Amino acid sequence: MEIEKNIQDEAEKNDPTSKNFIEQLIDEDLKEGVYDHVHTRFPPEPNGYLHIGHAKSILLNYGIAKEYGGKFNLRFDDTNPMKEKSEFVNAIVRDVKWLGADFEDRMFFASDYFDIMYEKAVLLIKKGKAFVDDLTAEQITEYRGDFTHPGKESPNRNRPIEENLRLFEEMKEGKFADGTMILRARIDMASPNLNMRDPIIYRVAHMHHHNTGDKWCIYPMYDFAHPIEDAVEGITHSLCTLEFEDHRPLYDWVVRECEFPHPPRQIEFAKLYLTNVVTGKRYIKKLVEDGVVDGWDDPRLVTIAALRRRGYTPESIQNFVKLSGISKANSSSDYSLLEYCIREDLKPKAPRLMAVLNPLKLVIDNYPEGQSEMLDIPNNVENEEMGSRQVPFSKELYIEREDFMVEPPKKYKRLYPGNEVRLMGAYFVTCTGYDTDADGNVICVHCTYDPETKSGSGFTGRKVKGTIHWVDAASCGKAPVRLYEQLIDEEKGKLNADGTLNFNPNSLTTVEALVEPALMQAKAYDSFQFVRNGFFCVDCKDSAEGHPVFNRIVELKSSFKLPAQK
Ligand code: ATP
Ligand code: MG
Repeated sequence: MEIEKNIQDEAEKNDPTSKNFIEQLIDEDLKEGVYDHVHTRFPPEPNGYLHIGHAKSILLNYGIAKEYGGKFNLRFDDTNPMKEKSEFVNAIVRDVKWLGADFEDRMFFASDYFDIMYEKAVLLIKKGKAFVDDLTAEQITEYRGDFTHPGKESPNRNRPIEENLRLFEEMKEGKFADGTMILRARIDMASPNLNMRDPIIYRVAHMHHHNTGDKWCIYPMYDFAHPIEDAVEGITHSLCTLEFEDHRPLYDWVVRECEFPHPPRQIEFAKLYLTNVVTGKRYIKKLVEDGVVDGWDDPRLVTIAALRRRGYTPESIQNFVKLSGISKANSSSDYSLLEYCIREDLKPKAPRLMAVLNPLKLVIDNYPEGQSEMLDIPNNVENEEMGSRQVPFSKELYIEREDFMVEPPKKYKRLYPGNEVRLMGAYFVTCTGYDTDADGNVICVHCTYDPETKSGSGFTGRKVKGTIHWVDAASCGKAPVRLYEQLIDEEKGKLNADGTLNFNPNSLTTVEALVEPALMQAKAYDSFQFVRNGFFCVDCKDSAEGHPVFNRIVELKSSFKLPAQK
């Protein structure tokens, strides 16, 4: 199968015994004495929630720091006042901690370095490496040239240093309107790399900043700010995604010309993309704003907050990132790899209880009226340490509608007239008949039970082929259960003809399930296996004490198996 092959390829790409290319580069740096320690960072822009792609970056940076006995910083890249919010800062802190990337007290804000950035800009001007320009945005684009044409120098490029210093100071003092003045690095308008053609390093923006308030009306551009942030914090290896590869010469130029004694080194790796979902903050933001999903943590999304709410564990995401591997080539990971990871993680951990998602009544006609008993049922047959629980049983039960058929196909092993099955953890029952409504729909199944066949009684008289789950009608609880499908149906094409995303109309279905009594006491984030129906987690937002709402994390069956680890 195609999926199976992809998963195997992905797993094999990442042989845990061999070092990835980043570790190899770091090993060389340490050997050659370029650095005598390792210090990494994760630098999110607080303009949205983190997603599974960021998890890769977080765990990579944190993992490298840990592996080399170094330090790891969380740094908010909050140099653009327009899109940033404290709500996002708080969400990011929570997500990074939850993923297990411990930054201790090493949390920083790029905006705390605005003074240093300003001083470095002044230094560049003094060295003749930066100048104030008043070309319009259109002129700048026109002068920049393109891949085939060299750029044209700005008429202001040779402005005297003193004048540049005065104008830059006036920019800072608010003497110019937004968009009328910029500070540009003075590098090379003929460079084949467009990023080196006198890039803008400061702009005027009369905007309130969430951290510095109204102190500044000039703000540094990303390509100038980011290397300074790294250098100020003593970062050794600045790991970023591939789209910054062409920016590396500028990164190196900034740390060199700003005269940082121990300049950091930028290394690029491929972004993580995932099939059938939306990754990319901008796109997720649009889904949230357009109301396609119900907030940043809608369980159909792959933000960290959504994955947590859905019932994913940090361990499952850590393993997913590991299996996806670190590489220099862009590729897309299969969503089913993520599902595989949560299933493997929960199998031994999650209690296995019974819930009926599509109920059909079952009456045991020979079970004494008014009687009930408690059955002792193990919590997880794969993990004895999880013990057992008491489950009530009586004459009237509910079973899954699909576990009964009037005219079954050949291989059907569940209930049909005349057939005997085991009720999980209880007795053998034989179907004796069924009732229908006026339209011929089956509304109740009748059967008889054999008291000799009680589970755990050692009965060996005969065997049955099928085992089905059930809940006791008198004592079961009712709970909404949400079943999810992929948000985007990639098989039908990711985009519609008009360029909009092709949403799967069935991405969310809510059913009212009947669940065994113990499940009604479940608390937010508790995870269970509902026997035969999948793994489920109690929704942290919509549940109340005694009224859980369950989200299906993943179904039980996968279409692939990972090869055994070497
Ligand atoms: P998006 O691409 O989703 O808009 P971004 O790159 O704008 O995200 P930032 O907050 O700037 O988001 O990113 C913080 C760090 O996370 C950066 O170092 C960035 O390279 C990294 N990162 C972002 N997306 C991914 C991804 N899909 N895979 C791996 N790393 C990523
Ligand atoms: Mg970004």
